[in-house]
Amino acid sequence: MARVVVVGGGFGGLASAVRLAKLGHDVTLVEQAATLGGALSFETGDGFAWDAGPSWTLLPAVIRDLFRKSGRPVERELELVPLEVVREHRFEDETSVRVPGGSRAAQIAAFDELDPGLGQHWVDHVASFSDDWEVLRRGYLEHPWDPDSVPKDLAARLDSREVLHKRLRRTFKDERLRLVAGHPFVAEGHDLRNVPAWLGVTAYLEQRFGAWTVPGGMATLGATLAERLVTRKVSVLTSTHATDLVVREGRVAAVTTTAGELDADIVVCAVDPRRLPQLAVHVQRTMPAIPPVVSHLGLEGELPDLPHELVLHGDPMLVVRTGGLAPEGCQAWTLHGRGRLAEDMLRALARHGIDVRQNVVARVDRSPRDLVERWGGSPMGVLWQGRATVRRRLGPTTPITGVYAAGAHATPGAGLPFVGLSAALVAQAVGPA
Ligand SMILES: Cc1cc2nc3c(=O)[nH]c(=O)nc-3n(C[C@H](O)[C@H](O)[C@H](O)COP(=O)(O)OP(=O)(O)OC[C@H]3O[C@@H](n4cnc5c(N)ncnc54)[C@H](O)[C@@H]3O)c2cc1C
Repeated sequence: MARVVVVGGGFGGLASAVRLAKLGHDVTLVEQAATLGGALSFETGDGFAWDAGPSWTLLPAVIRDLFRKSGRPVERELELVPLEVVREHRFEDETSVRVPGGSRAAQIAAFDELDPGLGQHWVDHVASFSDDWEVLRRGYLEHPWDPDSVPKDLAARLDSREVLHKRLRRTFKDERLRLVAGHPFVAEGHDLRNVPAWLGVTAYLEQRFGAWTVPGGMATLGATLAERLVTRKVSVLTSTHATDLVVREGRVAAVTTTAGELDADIVVCAVDPRRLPQLAVHVQRTMPAIPPVVSHLGLEGELPDLPHELVLHGDPMLVVRTGGLAPEGCQAWTLHGRGRLAEDMLRALARHGIDVRQNVVARVDRSPRDLVERWGGSPMGVLWQGRATVRRRLGPTTPITGVYAAGAHATPGAGLPFVGLSAALVAQAVGPA
């Protein structure tokens, strides 16, 4: 049985800890905050509760697999429900499309409503990623990968110079389809000119497997995993900051923390590796992707009927998420803003015909800097800076023997499904006790 220290109690750290404990290891999880969950937690105020970060996920199989491989199946502990509409996009020309998840036919119908013929264009684009998905799944997402020995078909994708911006310009004449296809990356703070084209595979995942949420807030997933730490007898040190690794003869020996030194045979870094100087030297050529400006709103009175997520294109680009918990007769919304935010986000929202300024009874604002400081790094993970970025991240292994990397800053990247897969890769690489 190895002594494992997991650094970071966000989704990546929680998922790694419960998997490794189930594999028979003696696991201690170190979290700098007083509570667990990282971005996968609630923000609360005045009787309202909002998802601080994620409010839906792709690839629900990743969560199902996590629950099955760490104890009880997810159905016994958590309700995962598909979103009929993944998100609505409203464009500057005042047209809009509600993108359904999990159905090719429904997507054809939705895009045809935007303009006849666009449905086929859209699903052809999505279908062009089906081979990419199989290759990525086999070689990169589901088995620990060795960046120095990558199968040919995977290398052809990962090393391709083609960027998403160029692919979308070539594929779509209609700018609105480009906006829809590029949105997931713009929302995560990336420039499409630096995002590899193969990442467009997320549109395939949306269509094939849908987008899913947890009624009562996605953060319930974080709380449920925190409970599972107890069942799996993981020792949890909250309010404890990991400051570095102790490395002896090229192998990890301990983690230094504000509560003293913790001996370790294995360490899982589930935070931005820049936080641990011994690892920071290995990721000098990466930069974090920055979260959006966030405003959580408690609203009362007459409100427009919006889907789970609404994207208002333009500059600034606004995203409205409506799934928060609110007292009777009220609603809890979250606004994300990116771009030219020269005025209050509610005023910018009013310019789109959604004027809720008189309805606000509670409000919590978070700047990107607040969020990064609070979570000791960006939950958006590593900024795409072209094809090289995929090899500049750590994970599942690292150059230090005994040290593994999970979470948004590790392979295979940010977003709940990929963070969940990163923990599965670490568990595979470490193996049973
Ligand atoms: C506003 C926003 C909206 C999002 N929406 C979605 C969405 O809808 N769907 C989706 O799939 N993804 C979404 N994401 C991304 C998703 O939240 C992240 O990919 C995921 O939660 C990252 O998990 P993590 O464990 O890697 O990092 P984090 O959640 O950042 O957790 C890191 C944890 O480590 C702790 N920590 C940091 N440094 C140290 C240290 N030195 N010692 C001890 N502890 C430390 C932090 O306190 C934190 O708890 C969103 C992110 C944001 C910010």
